[in-house]
Amino acid sequence: MVTTVGREGLVPTAARDGASTRLTILGSTGSVGCSTVDLVTRNPRAFVVEALTAFDRVDRLIDQALRLRPRLAVIANPAHYARLKEALAGSGVEAAAGPSALVEAAERPAERVMSAIVGAAGLAPTLAAVRRGAIVALANKECLVCAGELLTAEVARCGATLLPVDSEHSAIFQVFESQQREAVERIILTASGGPFRELGLAAMAEVTPGQAIAHPNWDMGAKISVDSATMMNKGLEVIEAHHLFALPDSQIDVLVHPQSVVHSLVAYVDGSVLAQLGTPDMRTPIAYALSWPRRMAAPSARLDLAQIAKLTFEVPDQERFPALRVAREALQTGGAAPTILNAANEIAVRGFLAGEIGFLDIVPVVEETLARLPSDAPASLDEVGAIDEAARRIAAEVMERRAARRPARAAPSA
Ligand code: NAD
Ligand code: MG
Repeated sequence: MVTTVGREGLVPTAARDGASTRLTILGSTGSVGCSTVDLVTRNPRAFVVEALTAFDRVDRLIDQALRLRPRLAVIANPAHYARLKEALAGSGVEAAAGPSALVEAAERPAERVMSAIVGAAGLAPTLAAVRRGAIVALANKECLVCAGELLTAEVARCGATLLPVDSEHSAIFQVFESQQREAVERIILTASGGPFRELGLAAMAEVTPGQAIAHPNWDMGAKISVDSATMMNKGLEVIEAHHLFALPDSQIDVLVHPQSVVHSLVAYVDGSVLAQLGTPDMRTPIAYALSWPRRMAAPSARLDLAQIAKLTFEVPDQERFPALRVAREALQTGGAAPTILNAANEIAVRGFLAGEIGFLDIVPVVEETLARLPSDAPASLDEVGAIDEAARRIAAEVMERRAARRPARAAPSA
């Protein structure tokens, strides 16, 4: 049995049992991508690689392609095409570049696709994999946030399968009794609280991109690391959980758990609470999504509860971390609001990483962009694209205005 996401949330469908799995990795050079490549390399008989894709880390892509010998290697940024083609000449690996090649990689006949591109850029290739009925291991939460209704409708229409990769959603998936969804009272997503969990607002105003991407527990890409620091990541994950498990916002709780050992929990009507635990290593949830309905070995450090000794939980501080509230409001508003939220957040995080705005400007940029755009529901994926573009444009304007005000604010302490 494999589980597919439709209007009912995760429900069982039939799956093929096979010796080795043909796999495509979208975003193979990123943090999740490299962990996936690591698992494939350790289990060479379990996988045949169809395609690998990257944005501009061409040397890493070349190295992966020469080791894994996919049929196709795609570099999304065409500036690196000549280098890729030359390095792969004679290897038997076809080289391609550009956004249409990215979609083509997802269209190639791999039964499983790891969707590990960061941001809404992952939507078109993920959708291409969904439309041919593939099993999609979904790390790219932004595509569910920006086009959740339409994407899950396509999953149901095309008989595709979504398997969560995000550690919290993988945890819930592992303990969620999909045959008895009425017995599920609520789900509880855990959050590490990020690097600034104990920092006051004044100190938060001064944090640098370097400090924001140094996550205490997880080693991740820059964008999700900043999202963890603002806790927007947990907001995006509430929306992701809403689509994956077909639960309303009111049945999705968040608890801060700084040790990142309990990855999430499901509470049932009889008072039972089931959780999945492990050390914070993405190779565990990735392995689950690559091998489900079976399990495969992963080299993640083993959990030593006696050594950890103490697990703590606390309610998130909504004042210092308003992102969670803003994301929940976007989910409640529905329509275009989650699309706008996601696009504005991508722009604001990029602006923060580039030193254009401060850490505490990120969420206000998102809120102001949400306030300036209508939230009418997109009727098609083209409309999602148009809303996403408009939100990026407005967010960039809002950001520019805030950036213009920054030097004046910084002057007294300079
Ligand atoms: P990353 O920045 O390390 O890697 C992103 C990958 O996407 C790279 O291969 C990059 O080349 C590619 N990419 C970036 N922009 C692209 C574009 N415009 N077109 C095509 N390809 C592009 O990111 P990551 O940390 O691996 O995260 C990937 C996704 O997985 C994100 O959606 C993130 O939220 C999710 N996720 C990550 C983790 C983690 O531990 N890193 C955990 C849970 C969920
Ligand atoms: Mg997560």
